Amino acid sequence: MRVGFGYDSHRFEEGRKLILGGVEIPYEKGLKGHSDADALIHAIIDSLFGAAALGDIGSHFPDTDEKWHGADSAKLLESAVCEVRGAFWSIVYVDVTVICERPKLLPHIPAIRERLAEILFPGEAGGVSRISVKGKTNEKMDDVGAGAGIEVHAVSLLKSNK
Ligand code: MG
Repeated sequence: MRVGFGYDSHRFEEGRKLILGGVEIPYEKGLKGHSDADALIHAIIDSLFGAAALGDIGSHFPDTDEKWHGADSAKLLESAVCEVRGAFWSIVYVDVTVICERPKLLPHIPAIRERLAEILFPGEAGGVSRISVKGKTNEKMDDVGAGAGIEVHAVSLLKSNK
């Protein structure tokens, strides 16, 4: 078994859609980034690559590459899952904490878990029970607490198939 940790943060920007965990969340701003800026998925990708010792998201999907401009991060996660599986690892469990003052994430968490289960555990029953997504505020501290953006921490557990 291996544990991997991933972290990501993005600033809010006017005029963009807010995409978190592959789900569009109604909000007045979105996250700024080269891809769709889905910080939740980016943190999960880094936790998977971390557990498998496969480098980091930037080495697989560089933000200097036009190929990833406006990229759907769900597709990046699909690709990361394939790489992790190709290195003979199975994904056992993923736990995520999303930190932002607004929007309130609680109503969107079931949809996010379902979407992530489709990508992380395709065709497997009970995938949703192997993904945890938790939301919290930063108690108004620092930039995130002032509403400047979103931070995400993710942990993944992988099992070796070798
Ligand atoms: Mg990112």
